[in-house]
Amino acid sequence: MFKTYIRNDQKLYFFTILLVITIMTMGVLIKNHLMADLGIGFLFHLSIVVIISVSLLLYPKYGTHSFRTIIIIEAFIYFYTIFILYPETWSNFIFLCFIPAVAIMFFDSKLFHFSLFINSILIAITFGFIALFDHGNLYTYIKQDLVGNVFNYVGSQALIYFIFYLTNLRVKKQELYYEQIKQAERLKTAGQLAAAVAHEIRNPVTVVKGFLQLYEQDSQFNDAIKSQFTLMIDELNTAESVVSQFLSIAKPDENLNIESVNLKVVLQSVTDLLNSYGLLNNNNIKLEIKEDCYIAANKIELKQLLINIIKNAIEASEIGDSVIVTGGKKEDIVEIQVIDHGHGMSDTEIECLGTPFYSLKSKGTGLGMMICYNIAAKYKGTIEIQSAIDEGTTVTICFPSRN
Ligand code: ADP
Ligand code: MG
Repeated sequence: MFKTYIRNDQKLYFFTILLVITIMTMGVLIKNHLMADLGIGFLFHLSIVVIISVSLLLYPKYGTHSFRTIIIIEAFIYFYTIFILYPETWSNFIFLCFIPAVAIMFFDSKLFHFSLFINSILIAITFGFIALFDHGNLYTYIKQDLVGNVFNYVGSQALIYFIFYLTNLRVKKQELYYEQIKQAERLKTAGQLAAAVAHEIRNPVTVVKGFLQLYEQDSQFNDAIKSQFTLMIDELNTAESVVSQFLSIAKPDENLNIESVNLKVVLQSVTDLLNSYGLLNNNNIKLEIKEDCYIAANKIELKQLLINIIKNAIEASEIGDSVIVTGGKKEDIVEIQVIDHGHGMSDTEIECLGTPFYSLKSKGTGLGMMICYNIAAKYKGTIEIQSAIDEGTTVTICFPSRN
């Protein structure tokens, strides 16, 4: 279907271009008073028509930004040439006003602003020339009402800008929508694929790990080899955790019961659990929550979300630093903040959060944040990240409060 669309699109392009070329050629050849003496003006007009025609016909083949820029410059030369060569044809002035519209056809915002800017300068020079030097000899129709023509020009540019703005907005919205569909499609495929292979991978991994654990205890192997077994087991553990995290995305449990969860209790148990993890690098978690707040969610999933985010905060922190976790109620919202003073993230890194397999850690799976976003969305919550490189990160999680 996509292919047919492109083909139809190209047909339309060539049809339009052939129409434009025919009109330009007719402009050169029919009732052209310059044609009689074949002077330099006529030859220039003819050449620019040929150059534009060839460029427009070649454009679909190359379609680069430089090619578009060349076509716009040619359009400038063409329209100003006919304006200068045929001063008696007043309608040429209308074309000057509409040169930036050529860029709209290409959906190129940079080129559009560029042509709008250049055109204003050229029009100012043209009007200056007509007012100061021409004195209305050649361009009587412009000189007679110079102010009115300036207003018309400004009005036409505003109109073109408005058209450009609306078109651009629509195109951007469509692009975003298309991106979202693609992302959803990718996730679905990833999920189905995971469900299909996860078990197949899990079984052999468990068997190999079991044997390695046996060998690790076996006295016939020396310590050097045993430490290699430990390494292998570690790697297999990573593989297992990727598979189980993948499975939780592939088969989100639809029948999880939603209850009124007391955030204070959940946060207490999560921080107790993670404090021992944090102690590895001497990081402790400071929990600040006074009142009981309730969220409508599944307890296990809420814990999973909090564990992922607090674990990230610990992993980003330097040895000895604390992670602060706060919880509280703000009107009808329950807000949880996880604050660390670790290595932080750049804006681009923040944008990548939640993309499957995006991880900067040597042993990371890059699935943690994606699972968090999924869980938050499921219970109408939001996750907001504020971060600065080398200063730290604050993750703010909000859920509707349940009274
Ligand atoms: P993983 O922890 O397995 O790498 P996540 O999805 O949990 O996957 O996180 C993705 C990446 O986001 C991490 O690798 C890390 O670079 C970055 N990140 C997440 N939380 C923080 C944080 N609090 N401070 C700095 N970087 C973070
Ligand atoms: Mg993580």
